[in-house]
Amino acid sequence: MAFRNFKMVSYVVYGRGSFNQLDEILAPQRKGDAPMVFLVDHFFEGKPLIARIPVRGKDKVIFADTTYEPKTTQVDALAKSLKEEFGSISGVIGIGGGSTLDLAKAVALMITNPGSSADYQGWDLVQEAGVYKAGIPTLSGTGAEVSRTTVLTGPTRKLGMNSDFTPFDQIVLDPELTKDAPANQRFYTGMDCYIHCIESLEGTFLNEFSKSYGEKALQLCQKVFVEKTEWDEESDDQLMMASYAGGMSIAYSQVGVAHAVSYGLSYLLGTKHGIGNCIVMYHLEDYYPAGVREFKYMVEKNKIEIPQGICKGLTEDQFETMINVSIGMKPLWENALGRDWEKIMTREKLRALYNKL
Ligand code: NAD
Ligand code: ZN
Repeated sequence: MAFRNFKMVSYVVYGRGSFNQLDEILAPQRKGDAPMVFLVDHFFEGKPLIARIPVRGKDKVIFADTTYEPKTTQVDALAKSLKEEFGSISGVIGIGGGSTLDLAKAVALMITNPGSSADYQGWDLVQEAGVYKAGIPTLSGTGAEVSRTTVLTGPTRKLGMNSDFTPFDQIVLDPELTKDAPANQRFYTGMDCYIHCIESLEGTFLNEFSKSYGEKALQLCQKVFVEKTEWDEESDDQLMMASYAGGMSIAYSQVGVAHAVSYGLSYLLGTKHGIGNCIVMYHLEDYYPAGVREFKYMVEKNKIEIPQGICKGLTEDQFETMINVSIGMKPLWENALGRDWEKIMTREKLRALYNKL
């Protein structure tokens, strides 16, 4: 067995107001007059945060439309236009939720790598280090701030550019930036973290490394969504650290059933990651009984609506597509159900599960 030797984020700053240090953090990364490009979630357009971005010289702020999850075409177009406009670029700084962080990672890689980002969807296909990249989350849960992937929807599949060049060079964890997230969104993205923990802790790939981070992240999620009666500053602090630790947990294990099934939904119907996982988790009592019980409690306690019946009226072909995408996520199934997973998760069983969603 080969042990994973994984590349981590190089620098981490944590704390309320740490965003104010960004100018100082970026200064040594500036290469002559080559600009820094700030990719910012469109939610922040016209908001006070924009005035706090340390724009210097030819630096550029670009608002990222995150109505849909990032696409390879969007990454390619952005990288191409930046190369045409500036020639060389000092770095790409992503400010937003998981979608913006992934977009920033991918664009930074595509400034230096030839061809299309679709060519690099897979494992260890990226050949060249990208330009400097920093990630500043404004939603907590995905773990995209620590992961070695960037999930993209391409012409034929939804798959990450997984590589040692993918992790950020720097992350700025400032919980203050998450304070205006709407309760529903905060819950869906927060549950992504909760589900990472359950899938990691209940999986066959579990080891002490993953367990240490997974248990801590789970405990923080429970503090925020189970124990507290009201959202407060401390909740933002705790959920941001939960996201980080949850990401570290799956870095050394793997996700499981909710993610494998949710990928099918997102590929066919465009269902977003957080909400898709929630839709699936609701029906996974056979696989994660305790986790699903607690999940349902949190849904109720936090008065969240989870859509039902999203697979109603789909054609046989469409069910087939989702099943193919899902069954294709082999490592996820192996983590969840063990080496003999194919005997346990048959196409019929998966079909019946999609039918319930
Ligand atoms: P998101 O980035 O898709 O954003 C969801 C919505 O929240 C958007 O409308 C956005 O405008 C809004 N938003 C963001 N910050 C806000 C704030 N502070 N206040 C108010 N609104 C705000 O949501 P997400 O759940 O963080 O990310 C999901 C994405 O992350 C998916 O594309 C998924 O594929 C990806 N993901 C990546 C990894 C990874 O390891 N790379 C892991 C999990 C998920
Ligand atoms: Zn996830």
